[in-house]
Amino acid sequence: MTEAVLAGLAGLIIGSFLNVCIYRMPRDLSVVRPRSGCPSCGTPIAWYDNIPLVSYLLLGGRCRRCRAAISMRYPLVELAVGLLFFAAVWTQGPTVEAVKLCVFAAVMVELVVSDLDSRILPDEFTLGGAAAGLLFAALTPMPPGIVGLLLAERHWRLVSVAESAAGALIGSAALWTVGWLYLRIRGREGLGLGDVKMMAAIGAFLGLHRAFVALMLGSIAGSVIGLLFILLARKDASTYELPYGSFLGAAAVAYAFLLG
Ligand SMILES: [Zn+2]
Repeated sequence: MTEAVLAGLAGLIIGSFLNVCIYRMPRDLSVVRPRSGCPSCGTPIAWYDNIPLVSYLLLGGRCRRCRAAISMRYPLVELAVGLLFFAAVWTQGPTVEAVKLCVFAAVMVELVVSDLDSRILPDEFTLGGAAAGLLFAALTPMPPGIVGLLLAERHWRLVSVAESAAGALIGSAALWTVGWLYLRIRGREGLGLGDVKMMAAIGAFLGLHRAFVALMLGSIAGSVIGLLFILLARKDASTYELPYGSFLGAAAVAYAFLLG
């Protein structure tokens, strides 16, 4: 219990940093400096006004200086990452597997919100996520899949990394093919290269079999919810760009935490 609570608190802080990445990376700004300022009046935010979740609640969601409203997105991202970190350690105990789940959750939350906010999926998180997934496969065994059957007699580390690499390569190739077909049939781009790279990260963390389930879940959710949104919000379906990465990431996290 204590470990899970500590992990949750660490998640709040990581979530706060992810908010900085979500805002700055698509704008090509450094995530290290300068320190965060109010988007309205530019006043630098003091450390005591920058405490995850707590400051937002104490300030009533407004800038201390100019009283401009602060987006709900900030506390929501912090809360989501905090809860996911808590759940990872609560279910897995203080293990490498739990750390892997936490890193996966952090990478996915950044990508989900960044895609929603700016339709950009930063390489640092897509390609960086794929590299992290491969590394974790060498540290903690991946659940055996098709690749595991082919390499059944080999050392677990080799099987695990091969499963992760197959998930990254075949998963992203499958999504790239879907995007290519869509472009040929509809004559416009439905998927970006960012989505393909994001799929490599999901495949590297989940392995081949689970990556395909996540891909299917994300596509179904994207189609159903996306169509409903376009209908209800009266968007123009021929020009509205759906944040496909957001659906993919949400499905992958839900699958990894609830079923995986
Ligand atoms: Zn302000």
